[in-house]
Parts: sequence; structure tokens; C-alpha cells
Amino acid sequence: METRPYAEPYKIKVVEEIKLNTKEEREQKIKEAGYNLFNLKSEDVFIDLLTDSGTGAMSDNQWSAIMKGDESYAGSKSFFELQKTINTLLGMPYLIPTHQGRAAENVLFSALIKKDDVIPGNTHFDTTKGHIEHRQAVALDCTVDEAFDPEIELPFKGNIDLAKLEKAFNDYPKDKIKFTNLTITCNSGGGQPVSMKNIKEVSELCKKYDKMLFFDAARFAENAYFIKVREEGYQDKTIKEIVREMFSYVDGCTMSSKKDGLVNIGGFIALKSEELYRQCSVYEIMFEGYLTYGGLAGRDMAALAVGLNESTEYDYLHSRIRQMQYLGDKLVEAGISIVRPVGGHAVYVDAKSFLPNIPQSEFPAQVLGVELYIEAGVRGVEVGVVLADRDPVTRENRFPKLDLLRLAIPRRVYTDNHLDVIVWGLKQVHKRRNECRGLKFTYEAPIMRHFTARFERV
Ligand SMILES: *Cc1c(COP(=O)(O)O)cnc(C)c1O
Repeated sequence: METRPYAEPYKIKVVEEIKLNTKEEREQKIKEAGYNLFNLKSEDVFIDLLTDSGTGAMSDNQWSAIMKGDESYAGSKSFFELQKTINTLLGMPYLIPTHQGRAAENVLFSALIKKDDVIPGNTHFDTTKGHIEHRQAVALDCTVDEAFDPEIELPFKGNIDLAKLEKAFNDYPKDKIKFTNLTITCNSGGGQPVSMKNIKEVSELCKKYDKMLFFDAARFAENAYFIKVREEGYQDKTIKEIVREMFSYVDGCTMSSKKDGLVNIGGFIALKSEELYRQCSVYEIMFEGYLTYGGLAGRDMAALAVGLNESTEYDYLHSRIRQMQYLGDKLVEAGISIVRPVGGHAVYVDAKSFLPNIPQSEFPAQVLGVELYIEAGVRGVEVGVVLADRDPVTRENRFPKLDLLRLAIPRRVYTDNHLDVIVWGLKQVHKRRNECRGLKFTYEAPIMRHFTARFERV
């Protein structure tokens, strides 16, 4: 018997038109943009895979919650609804809403991090690292070594190496490490998950050394899905049960709601300790706003409460992760090399093997991004030499081991047909890969150059 084909667990009620301009127009637009995809106008992009942050589609239930948002300055009904939802889902009674994830980091870290502190974790996200280093503290990467080898297919490449973590606890003076920061899913490799076993063991180690443990929870629901389908003993548990267990091992979390919150803006801190909540409240009021809105409109909190319940449903998560795997499998079938295994929110194309005749000094992943845009109107983002910036001391380019084109998939936005266009576009570029030319800078900012750089063809 033929197996039943897969179909998404939703139908489309509102659509947004996207326009495909001509290849000649795209060639012109990207030239005007200095061959930097960040400089393109979104209206000139057909399929936008720049990021999965804040780019998802809200449901009809979220849109109706928007209408019911309570815009009171203090004591908003929408705040209490969100607090109740988060406490039910995560088991965290204290909620501090913020305007996005990095604002949650700013508030929590203001309360906890002092100069010369050390914050161990599994490859801190760039804003997290920024907020740590801005306080003249150190973000110490304790991820398992396998995470840095794209050839190794392992189910939980986001895990923390317990030996590295314990060494850190022993090496630094006791008062320098107050907490460990565990990012779920780990951003490296497009969202590699952390196993429940690892979360539990990290938690036990932290308790042994009297350290707190926080999640950077931006993609906690995607992480829970991977635990369900990959880790023994979780197949029969619901996503919500798995989420509840994950959060039972930590003291709190910072969250960018623009990811698994299924909203376009927002973030929060959730905590178990009233004492820490009090300490954070001071900075919340100073940086974000009063305690019951923190930089958000009441309607934003209302939509988030609904979004958190939707993103922790198996059917939704299955449709999402399946898309990532669909795209990855099609690319592999076409003989295009990608980072394996495919993570929870993005597929990474290996640009060095795609464009072997373009040296790293001519930015192969940037070239691939430009050519994919010209070919198919698809916008990805370079994760390679351009992003790696120059060495701050020698001012030489840093050459990372991998030069990658990241294709991040927005939530509930594109269909498999769009994904087929991406695959087609990459195949077209692959056919003419020997004619692709490298790039060189015409403008380069001293740091974070990838956002504003301009290039010309070599
Ligand atoms: C996006 C993100 C952040 C920062 O959140 P913003 O909402 O962009 O400020 C922090 N950590 C992780 C893992 C993220 O993905």
C-alpha cells in the first residue's frame, strides 16, 4: 500500500504577495547593494532565509488575542495570562517580560555578572557573548568537541562536555562563576539539540558546585522535539511533559520570543527564585519598563501566551523540523554538501566544497549567497570569513575551518514548493560554479563588518 503523503497541520487564511523580479534586475540590485545581502530591500527578495528570528507567521488564535490585549500600564490582564501560561509550561512562577531576547540578557546579567566573572556554556549566542564581554567577563565555551566537526552525525551535538565544565569550576576562584548558561538548541550548526541526560547531568554538576543554571531558551520547543524523537525513554511523552522536565533542572531562563514564542517581537526572563526576581526588577524598570509590560504592548504578551502553547504541540514541531530535513535531504540528493545532521532552524551549505576554485580570501560563502540570490531570488546569509572579522591584534582576516551559507527557515511561512525553488537555485549555481568569481572589499567596518560591508567582483 502506498504511504499517506505528509501535509502541514494548518491551512492558510491570509497571504502576503511576494514578487519574483528578473535575473537581470537581481544582478543589478545586488551590484547596487555592494554584493551584500543585508543591503537588499526585502521587496527585492523572493524567498527570505536571512533569519528565523521574528519572521514567523502567527495563527488566527494569536491574531484574535492581539485584539484582546490589555494595554494598562500596571497590572495588565495580558501580563497575568502570560505569567500563568509560562508557569504552567515551564514551572517558573516569576516572569519579567522584555522587548526581545538580548534585553532579557541585559537585565539578568546586570543583576548577576561582575567584571572578571566567567560564564561557562555551550557556544554562547553572539548577543549573549556580547552582554557577557561588555561586562568584562568571559564566555567560556564548554561544548563537546564533536560539535565542531561537521562530518560527525550525532543526535545531540549541542551538549556540554561535563569534564570541561567541572574543570572550569575547579580552575576559577569560587566567586567568579555564579552560573552556567545552557543554550537550547545550541546555535552552532543551525540549532543542534542538547539531550535531557546532558541537561540533567549539567544541573547535578552545577548543584554540586553551588552554581545556578540558566537556559538561553530561544528554541526550547525545537529542542524538546529532538529529545522526543531521538532520546530513549521520551517517545511516549508529550512535548509539554518534556519541556516541563527540561525546565525542572534549571533556575531560570532568558528567552527570545521571536523564535519559539511564534511572535514577531518579544522576550522574557522566567525564574524560580523570588529573591533573584527582586534583584532583576530594579534593572527591568530602568532598562525595559514597568514590571507588568517590560518593553512590550499588552497585545504582544497576549499573542505570546498563545504562541507558546502552539509551539509546544508535536504536530506543529514535526511540520517545522520535517521542512529542515526535507531541504537537507534534497540538497544531499543533488550532490550538494551540507553540515550534518540538519539542526532545528537552518540548513548550512558548505561553500568551500561548492566553490572549490574560490579561495577563502575571496569569500566563497558570500559569493554563493550572491549567486543564489541572482539565480533564484533567495536570500541566505554568510557564516564564514566575512562574519569571522579580522583578528583584533594582527588585523589579519580570520579563516574559520568552515565557510557556510546559512539558510534559516521562518516558522509556518514557506511551503515545500518554496524549498524546491531553493534546491533548484542551488543546482543551477552548481552547474556554473566554475564561472563564479570571488569578491573583494570596497568598504569594511572595523568590527561586525558583515552587516555593512561592500564588495566588488574580483
Ligand atoms: C535570537 C537569540 C538571542 C537574542 O534574542 P533577540 O530577540 O534577537 O534579542 C539570544 N539567544 C539565542 C540562542 C537566540 O537565538
